[in-house]
Amino acid sequence: MSRAHNFSAGPAALPEPVLRRAQQELLEWGDARASIVELSHRGPEFMQVASEAESDLRNLLSVPDDYGVLFLAGGATTHQALMALNFAAPGQCADYVLTGHWGKTAIRQAGAYVRVNISASGEDDGFRSIPPRESWRLSRDAAYVHITANETIHGVEFRPAWGEPAPDVGEAPLFADFSSSIASEPLDISRYGLVYGGAQKNLGPVGVSIVIVRRDLLERAGQPRADIFSYASHLKSDSMLNTPPTWNWYLAGLVFKWMIEEGGVREFARRSEQKAALLYSTIDGSAGFYRNDVDPAVRSRMNVPFFLADAGLDAAFLAEAREGGLIGLKGHRVLGGMRASLYNALPLEGVRALTDFMQDFGRRHG
Ligand SMILES: *Cc1c(COP(=O)(O)O)cnc(C)c1O
Repeated sequence: MSRAHNFSAGPAALPEPVLRRAQQELLEWGDARASIVELSHRGPEFMQVASEAESDLRNLLSVPDDYGVLFLAGGATTHQALMALNFAAPGQCADYVLTGHWGKTAIRQAGAYVRVNISASGEDDGFRSIPPRESWRLSRDAAYVHITANETIHGVEFRPAWGEPAPDVGEAPLFADFSSSIASEPLDISRYGLVYGGAQKNLGPVGVSIVIVRRDLLERAGQPRADIFSYASHLKSDSMLNTPPTWNWYLAGLVFKWMIEEGGVREFARRSEQKAALLYSTIDGSAGFYRNDVDPAVRSRMNVPFFLADAGLDAAFLAEAREGGLIGLKGHRVLGGMRASLYNALPLEGVRALTDFMQDFGRRHG
């Protein structure tokens, strides 16, 4: 076996016990005489898998009963468009707090269906901080207020030190893109109207998204749309309006079980703090060899972009890291440099291996 520590931002590392179990179960499901991925989504075997996954996710995230949980094909980007279609009346506006690349994507997708008001933006600051709540200009009649809980590329996350993980936005429901930080710490879902994310960062494989939505919001008319784009229709049919991504749903379900066995979101919050603290302190203690430019109050626990003072060493850094069993460290093309993603499936020992390597590399090239 030569599996490396995988710091990829997404698709990302999955827990090894989950991969082993999927491998073991792949050929035949119980006494079904076929694989779970070869069986009807409406048959008893998959229905059981689907409902267990939902109840495990509800337990894991303490989802209140007045919220529906959807497992839908398509990535987070799809939902950035669908939320406007479903919750904004024609001509209505929605408020967006822009804190990085994915907030921009959200605005681009929603812009076709809703009047976008950018309430605040961190762009002038290179997305290295989050504009203080007092500076946000919220509309009086917004359909919703959208934030990106964790910016996967810019490494900026809403943290308690900044104010609240879920800022108070008044009347309009708060919609939050949690693609890259869901299940990394306890979350008070009741503060949100809608929480969504693609699974491929912290929850499972790419190809399925999770949408957690307050049921009363589904009574809004929204805009004319096909049934297949309607969250209300999907909820009514238990996310089986059409054939759901059964393989992805099943694998995500295994990840939920693993997270529960490991101690749940409180335990992952503890591990995340520990992993992030170790990496940031290594960067900050490197006498400028490495640097991360994000305001410490909002540094992401999940995605840590960092730069070598001498970008000419980037290629050597990546090659030597790979040689040492550390992969997925190349930064996103928007920022360049490096990025280490520290999702739930990445153990502390992976971060130790990375920081040991970084110190050693710094000594040899500093
Ligand atoms: C990855 C990511 C997305 C995009 O997800 P897709 O599944 O590629 O559509 C959106 N928002 C955030 C915060 C992400 O990390």
